[in-house]
Amino acid sequence: MDCIFCKIIAKVIPAAVVYEDKQILAFKDIHPLTPIHVLIIPKKHIESINDFSETDEQLAGHMVVVAKKIAADLQTGEKGYKLLFRVGDWGGQEVGHLHLHLLGGAQLYEEIRPI
Ligand code: 5GP
Ligand code: ZN
Repeated sequence: MDCIFCKIIAKVIPAAVVYEDKQILAFKDIHPLTPIHVLIIPKKHIESINDFSETDEQLAGHMVVVAKKIAADLQTGEKGYKLLFRVGDWGGQEVGHLHLHLLGGAQLYEEIRPI
């Protein structure tokens, strides 16, 4: 098991978990970019959005609904937040286990531009 996020799911590596159910784990990012920075991941190892298939549609929707609940629980739901999937090299994905970033707790710059 080389995947760092699979190790977090297996509790081999500790993480600050904010939500867990049968399909999903959510924990605080170790290097937060914003006051609230949570990663929402499927417990099943899927590398990226490019590996999602029709059979994962329920899981994809569930991740978004959970993100909304976590945003509300952490008091950034009303003011707003960003949800971000990075995909592959050009998308800047560094960890090869699908994760949805929840970024909030402050008003955020847009700052998405080509290199
Ligand atoms: P990516 O660039 O792949 O979209 O984002 C990976 C994220 O995972 C980064 O924001 C990084 O800080 C976070 N991360 C990497 N390793 C760990 C870890 O061991 N624990 C936690 N909590 N976050 C991690
Ligand atoms: Zn994994």
